Amino acid sequence: MQGHDVALICSADDHQSYLVRKAEALGMTPDDAADMFTDDIERTLSLASIEVDAFTRPRRSPNHATFVRSFFMEAAARGLIEARDYPSFACPTCERTLYDFDAVGRCGYCGAACDGGLCEECGRLIGAGSLVEPRCGRCGTTPNVVPTRRLVLLISQLERELSDFHASPRSRPHTHGLWKAFLADGLPDTPISIESTWGVPVDVPGFDSHRWWVWAEMGPGYIATTATLGEEWEDVWREANAEIVQFFGYDNSPFQILLHPALLLAHGGYRLPDHFIVNEFYLLDGSKFSSTRNHAVWGVDILSNVPVDVVRYFLAATGPETEQTNFTLREFQNRVNHELAGELEHCIRLTATGSGVRTGLVANLVNRAQMVGAALEPQAFSMRQATALWADMVREAARAEDATPEERAQALSLLASTAAPLMPEFAARLWGVLGSPGDLRTHPWGTPASTAAVDAMPAEPWFAAVSDAQLAASQR
Ligand SMILES: [Zn+2]
Ligand SMILES: [Zn+2]
Repeated sequence: MQGHDVALICSADDHQSYLVRKAEALGMTPDDAADMFTDDIERTLSLASIEVDAFTRPRRSPNHATFVRSFFMEAAARGLIEARDYPSFACPTCERTLYDFDAVGRCGYCGAACDGGLCEECGRLIGAGSLVEPRCGRCGTTPNVVPTRRLVLLISQLERELSDFHASPRSRPHTHGLWKAFLADGLPDTPISIESTWGVPVDVPGFDSHRWWVWAEMGPGYIATTATLGEEWEDVWREANAEIVQFFGYDNSPFQILLHPALLLAHGGYRLPDHFIVNEFYLLDGSKFSSTRNHAVWGVDILSNVPVDVVRYFLAATGPETEQTNFTLREFQNRVNHELAGELEHCIRLTATGSGVRTGLVANLVNRAQMVGAALEPQAFSMRQATALWADMVREAARAEDATPEERAQALSLLASTAAPLMPEFAARLWGVLGSPGDLRTHPWGTPASTAAVDAMPAEPWFAAVSDAQLAASQR
């Protein structure tokens, strides 16, 4: 709508090491478990009207493993991936090496309870040297630290290039602060192979029993997923005039802002992303969502009980963009009922009887639509801001009592077109009722449609109030 040619890509997390353990607990094969979880994700995306141009499952995608294997071999040939003895935990009771989440303890940087691999609290990568009070996640025994032969990415040797890359902030302040903390700590040389039978095989001689660490695999995996859209899309990863925007949660920051850029630099054949849009944790009733404690509202449940647009509206309006925010079903109900079933419904149904005295309504909304558009550009991307600005447009349109029927219809066409990214079903329906010409998706941003005054609005409400029964059905 803003004139950009955009593709949204996404990939499943098939090769996570903890998937094997989870599958064991469920009495399933890892393949079946991966498919089951990914089916759920795809179903939720579809119910949420999130249209992904390419969604790949690494185990099933024909180009994924081939692409990832050759990417790593090309990078290794350039000298920044090296075999080293790296300290790892080993459990004497279970007689196994404890990779990532296999070990639990506290973070050596911030003291928070955390698993090996990653501290969700401060965003640091956690290895045998930085997990305090370590225990085996399976049996609780204190593990020994033993050297294990791993392939290590020499990130410390890329300090100058990475510093140049991060010289201008590419993400919200919290994540940019994490980059500065990495720099102050000293950039960590990071093992990227793991002894395992689950994952993409390593072709480096002597490492037949290893797989590429899943967090490293994801980096080239994004390029492999993009390539499924055709060669011209794969070229986005080489072209200077394209823009790559990555969306993720704060706890994935070390992989996205440090490991993946380092891999791309070590390979040398691709460009780096331009923007990182990072969300903080979204809390439920004041504490972290947890599927194990069933402290959760499942996308599938809420989206099966209330219209998709109102869920999208509320999540956009309250998402944890720069700090943790709190989701409650009650606030969801209150805001939807007040702002959509109340204010928006009222605004759309106002009868225009203005005598032709210009209110400046259309020009005013055109200005505001530009502001909504600016909030959707990657440099300042904020769904919260876009939603708040759009809700202001609704209030503005409701106040302009003196508008003529034609002005009112044009104002509604602006409300419809600027609502398209937020509430696609509502936007398409209003656009249709207005008889606006052309395709909403290609209509130039922030311009009113040349639409005539509307004779009669449909009788059924645009947004019904969310009931207590719907809320109850939205939570298991
Ligand atoms: Zn920490
Ligand atoms: Zn153990």
